[in-house]
Formats: sequence, structure tokens, C-alpha cells
Amino acid sequence: MTFPAPGSAPIRVRFAPSPTGIFHVGGARSALFNWATAKQQGGIFVLRIEDTDASRNQPEWVDGILSAMEALGITKADATFEGPYFQSENAGVQRAAAERLFADGKAYYCDCTRDVLVARTGNQQTGYDGFCRERGLEHAEGRALRFRTPDEGETHVVDLIRGNPVFPNSTLEDFVIARGDGSPVFLLANVVDDVDERITHVVRGEEHLPNTPKQQLLWEALGATPPVWAHLPVIVNEKRQKLSKRRDKVALEDYLADGILPAAMVNYLMLLGWAPGNDEEILPFEELIRRFRLEDVNSASAFFDIKKLTAFNGEYIRALPVDEFTAACDPWLHAPFAPWDEASYDPAVFAAVAPLAQTRVAVLSEITANVDFLFLDEPVVDEQSWNKAMKVGAAELLADVRAVLVDAAWEAETLKDTVTVVGEKHGLKLGKAQAPVRVAVTGRTVGLPLFESLELLGRERTLARVDAALARLAASAETAEGAETAGSAGVDAPASAG
Ligand code: GLU
Repeated sequence: MTFPAPGSAPIRVRFAPSPTGIFHVGGARSALFNWATAKQQGGIFVLRIEDTDASRNQPEWVDGILSAMEALGITKADATFEGPYFQSENAGVQRAAAERLFADGKAYYCDCTRDVLVARTGNQQTGYDGFCRERGLEHAEGRALRFRTPDEGETHVVDLIRGNPVFPNSTLEDFVIARGDGSPVFLLANVVDDVDERITHVVRGEEHLPNTPKQQLLWEALGATPPVWAHLPVIVNEKRQKLSKRRDKVALEDYLADGILPAAMVNYLMLLGWAPGNDEEILPFEELIRRFRLEDVNSASAFFDIKKLTAFNGEYIRALPVDEFTAACDPWLHAPFAPWDEASYDPAVFAAVAPLAQTRVAVLSEITANVDFLFLDEPVVDEQSWNKAMKVGAAELLADVRAVLVDAAWEAETLKDTVTVVGEKHGLKLGKAQAPVRVAVTGRTVGLPLFESLELLGRERTLARVDAALARLAASAETAEGAETAGSAGVDAPASAG
């Protein structure tokens, strides 16, 4: 029986991040799996900040964890949420637990240094050999406290994801639970806090699986019923390497800063090691919670597929009501992301173009480049686009387009028909005919529907941009001619003797 029977005490899970840096997507996945379990079972989700490594912890990282939680929808405002608790604030209880283990004969003091141990055993890799077990050392500064692991038997761990792994006790060394200065180490602090917070299910990353038999022995030694464990699969990149912050993009906030919608991120993270079934993937969070089962989480490594995440995000973007899409784009339409002056930005123009852009962006940060031509005095010309579109005949075509744009009715359909007719005169289909116009006006070969864009930009600005493009084409034609003349002169010149 892994979950309590109906009517018994609610389950209590926890997410226990160490504030030692960025908020990793793997941490976000652990937080969500815990949250989904708590919500679904009518239980409690405890947030515990494991801030005991004073040299590596920074207060701003705690803020980062709290804001990441909020972004994921794991909010203090929900009755499921409890905490945050701080591991450092529980130090007294952890020390008392260490003392109790010593008093009960379940732990002993040890003054062996690593060097002494290696010299004694002749083995650099050795685990602790139990030398101080029966020495009866009392507490003193500099003496570590070691847990006395059983020499025989096995430790059976109930893990919903890993089957029920069995660890022979003979493989477990007498591990340190408190350092020479009396401070509890991770293994003990983590267990004491879990016991103290009455945690029933420990759902965490696979990297902690090797700690589990030791921790379960500590639970038992402290007289508590061990929790049910669930070790989530490791998350890997496209090369099947474990995601690492030195190599891969792993910070949750970097994805959000690119314009991955929090809801899309949450949906995607929920699928790292689990599937909701029926070949369905994009589902509202309530439905994901309803279907989620820790027992159904896979033990095989989970691929963090950025392309898939981006595609998910595109779907989430397209599903937004247009006013929500507009609001979500807002940060990217202003400094420091937007390259235009604040005074040039016109929310009415953006509102008009938003429905066209909504179907085309996969991450919100792409919005800036899609609409910049509307708010900048001159388009940002992408040189590759220019070279592609401004081939032979482009100048003539643009000149003819310009001539008809001067007095065409300024409305997308008419503009399209007008350019179609000019294109036909040049033997070009609309797709080819509009390319130089698009590059002249927007700077790029791809973008929003052209004629709607022209309508919004207005006749005056459109003509000014076509003129600027014609001028550039004329200038480069002259340079090319000059170069040709110079080139042929070179060919005709007598070869220098040598
Ligand atoms: N503070 C540990 C970590 O961030 C958590 C360990 C656990 O969940 O038990 O890896």
C-alpha cells in the first residue's frame, strides 16, 4: 500500500532545493511532480530551503526559488502549500537528533583523518573501516560523529519508480552524520527535517538514490516510519548527456525570459518522465494533475527537447485570446528589448498587427523582430535577405511598384492586387514579385503578411522605404559598373614582365 487509505492522514510531500545557483529545470520538474502529487491526493506540499551550506548560499537565490515557484503556479496562496521552511533554522533539532543517536549507541565519535585512514588501509579509495566503533570516544571538538550501519542484512526501500531496490548493509560504510564542529551533514539534516515535517513521500532526482539506504536507516534509527520514495529519472540533452549548467541551457528563468509561457513550460516539464496517456500531451494543468501517477513515471532518462518545448509554446501562444497574447508580448515591446524609441511605439498599431503575429511566433521574444519595421524609422536590413531578394530586375520591379503605390487605394486587398499586376508585367508570380517589396519595407524576406503590413505602415513610410531601396540599388549598380570597367581595363593591360 503506497498511498494512505481514504480517510487517513493526508500525504505530505516536499520540495527541498539548495539555494546554490540558478533554478534548474530539473528542480522545476521535481517541484511540479511533488505539487501534482499533493494536489491530486489532497495532501500538503512543503517547500524547504536547504540553506545549510553557508559558503554557497546567497539570499537572492532564495528569492529566485520563490519567484520560480510562483511562475510555475506553485503558490503560497494555495492551501496545499506549506512553508517555506529553512533548514538552517532547524539546526537545533538536527543536533539534538545526532546526540540522541550517540546516546542510543547508534552513532559514535571518530577522530580518524582521511590520511590516517588511507595509511591504515593502504587504499586511497577506501570507505571507512570502522576503526573507532568500539573505542568509546566521547564528544570533543574535531571528532566527527559516524552512524553505525548494520553489518548484516539488507535495507529494503519502497520506491514507486525504481521497483523496490534492496541494498546489502555490508556495502554501507559507517557514514558521517555530524562534522568535527558538530554541524550536521546533508544526509542527517535532510532526514531530520523530513521526519520533523512529517513527510510521507520523498519525490526527488535520481542522483539521490545512492543516499536512500543510508537515509532510510537514519529514519529507522530515529524511530520514525520511513517514507515512500520516488526517484525521478535524470534529464538529458540531445546527446544523451545529463543536463549540466556549464554546457546546457538549464535555468528556468532563461526559458521564461525568451518568452516560453509559464503554462507551456509547466505542461512540458510534466512530460519529462511521464505521459498522460491517450497520446495526448497538451492538456490543462488540472487535467495533468488528475491523471498524474508517480507509479507511472518512467525510470529511463528523459530527453529535454528544446524543439518540442518551442513547438508546445507555439501552440500555447496560438491558443491565447488575442488580448492576452498582446499583454504577454508587452515586455518585448519596450526597452530594453525593443530597439525603437518609446515615443515611436504605438499600441494601436501593435493591437492591429497582433492577430497576424500570434500565428507566427513560437517564443514571445520573436515578436520584436516581427514588428520592428512598424516602429523604427528605417527597417533593419538583413543583408542575406537583401542579397536574396534584390537580384537582377529588382530595381525595375520596385520602380514600377512604386509608381502604382503612389495613388493605389491604401488597403491590403487592393495593394495585393496592384502588386500582382505589376509582377505579371515582369513575368513574376506574386511570391517572387513581393520579395523585393518586403525586403525594402521590412528588411527581411520572411515576416508578417506583407499587404496588411503595408496598410498599417501607411503610404508615406512605404514609399520612403521603397525610395531608399531604389537609391541603394542604384548606388550598387554604379559601383558594380565602375568595378567592371576597372576589371576589363585590368584584363586589357599588358601583363607586367616578370
Ligand atoms: N537539497 C537537495 C538538492 O537540492 C535535495 C535533496 C532531497 O530532495 O532530498 O539536491
